[in-house]
Amino acid sequence: MIAGRYMTTISTNLQANLRTVLARISAACGSAGRDPAGVRLLAVSKTWPAEAVRQVAACGQQAFGENYVQEAVDKIVALADVPGLEWHFIGPLQSNKTRPVAEHFHWVHSIDRLKIAQRLSEQRPDALPPLQVCIQVNVSGEESKSGCPPEEAQALALAVAALPRLTLRGLMAIPEPTENIPLLRSRFALLRQLQQTLNSKGLALDTLSMGMSHDLESAIAEGATLVRVGTAIFGERTYPKETS
Ligand SMILES: *Cc1c(COP(=O)(O)O)cnc(C)c1O
Repeated sequence: MIAGRYMTTISTNLQANLRTVLARISAACGSAGRDPAGVRLLAVSKTWPAEAVRQVAACGQQAFGENYVQEAVDKIVALADVPGLEWHFIGPLQSNKTRPVAEHFHWVHSIDRLKIAQRLSEQRPDALPPLQVCIQVNVSGEESKSGCPPEEAQALALAVAALPRLTLRGLMAIPEPTENIPLLRSRFALLRQLQQTLNSKGLALDTLSMGMSHDLESAIAEGATLVRVGTAIFGERTYPKETS
């Protein structure tokens, strides 16, 4: 009974939290003069059980983000009965773990070197559509270790776009945590400018994956088309599994 009551409580909170996040996205679009249809919500479910994802999916949310390969694959398998789910891998990816990602996910946001992209392309099963990918760019210089340096993004993007089983959709960034809003916005603006530059070189990137629970408003003001939100939907993560 305790478990049952606990789940009921979670369900109510999850639905309210999801509504609040969608309202924040709408309000941010309003302030920026943007159509809310141009910003997708990715619900980041890392560390949360499949049952929590099932409840958020029951509220109409379809896209979920995960960071840890084994945890994610277990959840994807457990939720195979839920129609329409779209799984996005957003964490650091080691080359020895690309195969389950190529086999189970729809999107990967964290491509930061060609070797990872080549393996994903080779390992993407023929029966599935091409894997949708973003290149992660380090927009914060020495403050951050993950992502490719902005000056290398063009060469990487052109090489990734040529891989047969991947579709390059855009760019992703995680700026360093800061309360300095102008600085934060300059980081997001850098990603948008890079997207424009790459599109002027012949690519057709339609995705800017930027903004999380605490900074989605700034990201939307700078052109985000997809925000990745965990804590504001699921609550504080109770065990720290962040590895980067
Ligand atoms: C965990 C994570 C998020 C979600 O962060 P919150 O602050 O919980 O919203 C977004 N993007 C990436 C890459 C993450 O690892």
